[in-house]
Amino acid sequence: MLKKTSTELQYPVLQLYINGEWVGAQARKIEPVISPLTEEKIGDLPHATQADLEAAVVSARAAFQSWSDMSALERGAILRRAADLIRERADTIAGIMTLEQGKTRKEARMEVLASAETFDWYAEEGRRTYGRVVPGRTPQQRITVMHQPVGVCVAFTPWNFPSITPARKMAGALAAGCTLVIKLAEETPATGLELVRALHDAGLPPGAINAVFGVPAEVSSYLLSHQDVAKFSFTGSTVVGKLLAQQAAKDLKRATMELGGHAPVIVCEDADIDQAVAMLVAGKFRNAGQVCIAPTRFYIHRDVYDEFTEKFVQRVQALRLGDGLDEQVDVGPLANPRRVKAMEELIQDAVEHGATIACGGKRGQTPGFFWQPTVLENVPDSARIMNEEPFGPVALLRKVDSVDEAIEHANRLPYGLASYAFTRDSLTRSKLSRGIQAGMLGINSLHISMPEAPFGGIKESGLGSECGIEGLLAYCNVKLVSED
Ligand code: NAD
Repeated sequence: MLKKTSTELQYPVLQLYINGEWVGAQARKIEPVISPLTEEKIGDLPHATQADLEAAVVSARAAFQSWSDMSALERGAILRRAADLIRERADTIAGIMTLEQGKTRKEARMEVLASAETFDWYAEEGRRTYGRVVPGRTPQQRITVMHQPVGVCVAFTPWNFPSITPARKMAGALAAGCTLVIKLAEETPATGLELVRALHDAGLPPGAINAVFGVPAEVSSYLLSHQDVAKFSFTGSTVVGKLLAQQAAKDLKRATMELGGHAPVIVCEDADIDQAVAMLVAGKFRNAGQVCIAPTRFYIHRDVYDEFTEKFVQRVQALRLGDGLDEQVDVGPLANPRRVKAMEELIQDAVEHGATIACGGKRGQTPGFFWQPTVLENVPDSARIMNEEPFGPVALLRKVDSVDEAIEHANRLPYGLASYAFTRDSLTRSKLSRGIQAGMLGINSLHISMPEAPFGGIKESGLGSECGIEGLLAYCNVKLVSED
């Protein structure tokens, strides 16, 4: 039972982690960490100096040779030990995440357990970076294709999933034999540091991972222009992703980017409406909608629109807002005041463009960065919210006449991350599978994120994948060896 309230949980002391050592604030610049529930300071985060960043890269470079030389079996054993420690500590880590990020502890716990699973999965998959033997052109020629770790990697992770996003990058890089400097989100630093602590306690050699904080643009500029860095991985907005890609392109550094989304949901006339409503309310409002794969634009067939809307709004109105540590609460506060401002502006603009508010539409309780779970109807394409990722607790419902019309709407935006559809018809499924422009499509399912399957977007939603064999090979170079 998770009974503790926010005030009883201890928020940890925040430090940098460089070359296997915890580094405290000392004379470094400090940034406050703010509780989204109380709007009060809960921690002091030290920023890395330039010397710290350099030390982090130097230690990652120094560790690379021995870490990449270690067998995948041995590396996997360390990652699995870390996974066990994360599982043992899951309740505490989840509580810390709720304190700094706001999501419910139930959701946080699931995220932490999924992170442990991610370490486990990469620990095993690291043993399968198979190459291949290509038939030679002469009886003597032997052509081998090998996968080798790219080297020192850097990663930048956001505040909405402070555990699973760093876990994917840490586990992927380390399993492939790379070393890593990671800049965790300054707004939610403690959760990611607990993953680092688990790796440290599991016996990860010094330098294999380093965790830093700072002014994001300054840290990323320094790391991306460093000649010893071979690759970067970023999760965040499309705008920032493009900026980082430009910086990294100067030296042709490898890139994996998981960026914004604006997921369409197509509800066909033959859908199981009760099943669709239950899944979509849960999927839309988890983490208060601050999810890159959150269902956002709902295109509902005219024949089932009224039934879907009535049942959907009824369920949304029943969601309880409050402290994520309270077990009765379904939706916590937004992670920061920027999201509250964005909700205000986007919803006001939508209403000015003719949208109607079916429920919510206002700030929730204060203090705290709360926003009421909101449903908007009749939102025209000209409204900002139909084009910009809302990244908050708002669902946009639209009536359509056919699945073809819905697919056209779905593909209208430059985003192409997640997409969803509800139908029982096999021909419609096949049409959707072929026609939807997205990296991921869930049909009668919102379950599109698991370590064994590639997670990523197309168009302006990203580059490459995390998880799956694709996620591991993203940390490898391909080498051809031809012997005669
Ligand atoms: P933002 O674009 O300023 O920041 C997004 C993330 O990128 C943050 O974690 C931030 O620390 C980091 N970042 C920003 N500039 C950076 C830089 N130069 N170098 C390295 N990292 C940098 O905006 P925000 O207000 O934090 O979030 C707003 C938008 O970001 C959301 O509306 C959403 O579209 C997007 N976002 C997407 C994801 C995702 O999972 N894809 C996660 C968080 C935010």
